[in-house]
Amino acid sequence: MQGQVRVRFAPSPTGYPHLGNIRTALFNWLFARHTKGVFILRIEDTDQARKVEGATEIIMESLKWLGLDWDEGPYFQSQRLDMYRRYAEELVNEGKAYWCFCSSERLDKMRQDQMARKLPTGYDRHCRNLAQEQVQATKSSGTVPVVRFKSPLEGQTTVEDLIRGEVIFANSTLDDFVLLKSDGYPTYHLANIVDDHYMDISHVMRAEEWLSSTPRHVLLYRAFGWQPPQFAHLPMILGPDKSKLSKRHGATAINEYQDQGYLPEAMINFLALLGWSLDDKTEIMTVEEIVKNFSIERVSKTAAVFNIAKLEWMNGMYIRALGTQEFSDRSLPFVERALPPAVKRPIDAGYLEQIAPLVQERAKTLSEVPSLVDFFFTSTVEYDRELLWGKLDSKQASDILGKSIAALEKTLAWDAEQLEAAIRPLTEELGFKAGPFFGVLRVAITGRTASPPLFQTMEVLGRELCLARLAAASDMLKA
Ligand code: GLU
Repeated sequence: MQGQVRVRFAPSPTGYPHLGNIRTALFNWLFARHTKGVFILRIEDTDQARKVEGATEIIMESLKWLGLDWDEGPYFQSQRLDMYRRYAEELVNEGKAYWCFCSSERLDKMRQDQMARKLPTGYDRHCRNLAQEQVQATKSSGTVPVVRFKSPLEGQTTVEDLIRGEVIFANSTLDDFVLLKSDGYPTYHLANIVDDHYMDISHVMRAEEWLSSTPRHVLLYRAFGWQPPQFAHLPMILGPDKSKLSKRHGATAINEYQDQGYLPEAMINFLALLGWSLDDKTEIMTVEEIVKNFSIERVSKTAAVFNIAKLEWMNGMYIRALGTQEFSDRSLPFVERALPPAVKRPIDAGYLEQIAPLVQERAKTLSEVPSLVDFFFTSTVEYDRELLWGKLDSKQASDILGKSIAALEKTLAWDAEQLEAAIRPLTEELGFKAGPFFGVLRVAITGRTASPPLFQTMEVLGRELCLARLAAASDMLKA
């Protein structure tokens, strides 16, 4: 259909998709959804040596997790080898490409010589002008050739880029690159443009690192007599220290963010701002808002900076915005996975839902939830005795526990309000500030010095467990 936007995400399954790959997928998807166009998934699996087992599955799972649904595909280039070969041969027949029989030993030696003489490295075009008979003779001797493109020796090639404007390359810097390898597989350049042409791709949006390949693509389109798509090269993503983004900066494969308890909607929001912005200030946006406002015009030329602290902050915002029930449901698998084996499985979802409002404010990722809730699930809590008295002494802690137990045993209704009414007057009676006083109870009940609000925690834990933990603490001090 004339005029319809058709874009593709074309990952090579040579590793698990990282932030940069998924940012490319997202921008293509956003553009497709914004323009009511088509988003295509194409797996560029022509590099047999670098193929990683399971990578294609992880790529698809990551896209699904983020809600980046594709309208066509996945197409696999490895299933279309005949077609690429046909096109390579067509160019040879038209004199625009040629068979090259150079051995890898010869190419290595050539490269070493070039380096020794401080010349730019690149194929020396040894086979560019072989006579037809020579080609036939070498072929029949059993040498398996590659096909190389006849790059123009002079002049320049201009790439029109929607983000960068005109980018001009001197043809002298483009060597006679390989189109078809000796294993019969096409190179990236050939397969990529044949597919973009046949899949009717209107816009090629990809990372900036591919910009230097684009003049080769433009020449190939010209050689085939095809209209090239529009190009848009997305800005690089750098770490906070302005070096190329790496694991060192906390950037890992996208599925690890999922395991670490980042919400897909927070990830989308965060990734969208790596190179695009609505107005240079709005940070939190739903995916619908981003789709509605996305445009290539607002994609920046300058590199984006990845900052894990910002992602955590944003994820925390998204977590707090969830309804309690939803927060609880989404935390459940993390709790299920991370609580000690002694805790009964399956985890009681209804109980977790009661706990959820007490911890929701405090979690920046869902993987933090288990350590915030574990003491609700274990039968006892473990801690060092000294933690009980903190800035007080053990005698004072012992008094606090004794009086509190006596008061709590008398309370009829076990809810936060009644519990507070029973305990708070004791602080004055015994002459303590609320902080250190409650601190003793907090440690006895939760095993830690920081917890959700004490009386609400006690309400959810219930009378029996609370009294048992207070008694255990009291015994510990006597021992
Ligand atoms: N297969 C390339 C990659 O892994 C695709 C680049 C492009 O979009 O042309 O990123």
